[in-house]
Amino acid sequence: AKQQGGNRIKLYSTKMNEQALYRIELESYLRKALEKDEFFLVYQPLIDLETGAIFGSEALLRWNHPKIGLVSPTEFIPIAEEIGLIHEIGRWVLKEACTQTKKWHDLGLGPLTVSVNVSATQFQQPTFLEDVKWALNVSKLPPHCLNLELTESLMLRNISYSIHVMKQLQALGVKVSIDDFGTGYSSLSYLKSLPIDSLKIDRSFIQQIHEDRSHIAIVKAIITMGYGLRLKVVAEGVETLEQMKLLKRLKCHYAQGYIIFKPLAADEFEKQVMKRER
Ligand code: C2E
Ligand code: CA
Ligand code: CA
Ligand code: CA
Repeated sequence: AKQQGGNRIKLYSTKMNEQALYRIELESYLRKALEKDEFFLVYQPLIDLETGAIFGSEALLRWNHPKIGLVSPTEFIPIAEEIGLIHEIGRWVLKEACTQTKKWHDLGLGPLTVSVNVSATQFQQPTFLEDVKWALNVSKLPPHCLNLELTESLMLRNISYSIHVMKQLQALGVKVSIDDFGTGYSSLSYLKSLPIDSLKIDRSFIQQIHEDRSHIAIVKAIITMGYGLRLKVVAEGVETLEQMKLLKRLKCHYAQGYIIFKPLAADEFEKQVMKRER
């Protein structure tokens, strides 16, 4: 029995070592990813549920490492935050998303919008506002075509500071939306005091819309509240036709999801928009 226990501990610690080593390896690769040009953005179309028109996209970050392949942003973004790389990466994402979208405007595909995810650490950088202004300046993208997606937990870290920054963003003309809405702790009373333009209902609610009546009630309530506060409501993670029909019936403004379009490479996105405009 003693022998067995010993083996178990050994196995366990080998596994721990492997994980620790993988993490160290990932970190060192991540530090070089920007200079090695290993990041790229994919663009997931956002459509107007009433007309079916593509009016913009959400830019989603991808990291392709030559040895380990594609790494999910849910895996590497927390590491980038931890080791202080998110600032630089975030700046790159802002510039790239704005520049690409401006190119589409110049091709006559306007005025497409682009939504960019902002991480908590990035938002709290004292230079964040400057970074946004810089990206708009170098790209020449009109500010109202840039939408920043902020999560509830990010805003709640320091609510008065967050409101302060969001007001300055709006003064620039940039749009702000709450991402993953419904998963945080937003109380209705503070929601009305937030300087935001839209709410993005988290996909966990959309996906269970047909399995669970209480989820329909939640989605309905969020949409109604959005109307009341004069906010646009976006549904993310729409995967079935039933979900899309229901959201349309509930008068949700915008939608995004695999049933409509998966995230697309820039040239593919361009083709799809051109196809729809004709
Ligand atoms: P998110 O902001 O909630 O983005 C939506 C995620 O849902 C994306 O995953 C997208 O590919 C996926 N998705 C879209 N439609 C569907 C659908 O119909 N079904 C399902 N199951 N999933 C769908 P992705 O690209 O892996 O990104 C994961 C998360 O990583 C994002 O979640 C966001 O929080 C973060 N992220 C991505 N890009 C960036 C970035 O540039 N900066 C920061 N700070 N975070 C980013
Ligand atoms: Ca998002
Ligand atoms: Ca998110
Ligand atoms: Ca989400």
